[in-house]
Amino acid sequence: MPLYEYFCQSCNGVFEELRPMREATEPVPCPECYRDAPRIMPTSFAAFTFRDGYPRRIPDDGKFYHLGHKVSKPVTGGRPNEHPEVNKPEPKKRKLKGEVSAIKDMQGMARKADLSDLYGNPVREREVESFVEQGRIIKQGTPNAAPD
Ligand SMILES: [Zn+2]
Repeated sequence: MPLYEYFCQSCNGVFEELRPMREATEPVPCPECYRDAPRIMPTSFAAFTFRDGYPRRIPDDGKFYHLGHKVSKPVTGGRPNEHPEVNKPEPKKRKLKGEVSAIKDMQGMARKADLSDLYGNPVREREVESFVEQGRIIKQGTPNAAPD
């Protein structure tokens, strides 16, 4: 059985568990407090943590994510699909040198079908740049891809 990593929000701790592959994405009880802890991916370009039930990037910059977009606070009110910060266009930012080469690396991996989004679905080469621009999480490996 493969070894997977899990993150406990209440203990703020990471632990590892041996699990059958088909159960890897299910939460596992934390060995310290026995609360359910979600899986974290072993090789992430954007490591993340959870606070108040929202995935947060590390380092935590105090922002939240709404439908894959970075926002300063979680959506409130009765229309969960409409966040005031998401529907207005953002000014284009110039990319840093490191960012450009990281995108190139990720595009190379996407070509080999070795990248996935937060939910484990494959990310295509042409989608890499917009994922990065929107601050969406990209991970190495495609857990949801059909096995050979
Ligand atoms: Zn715990």
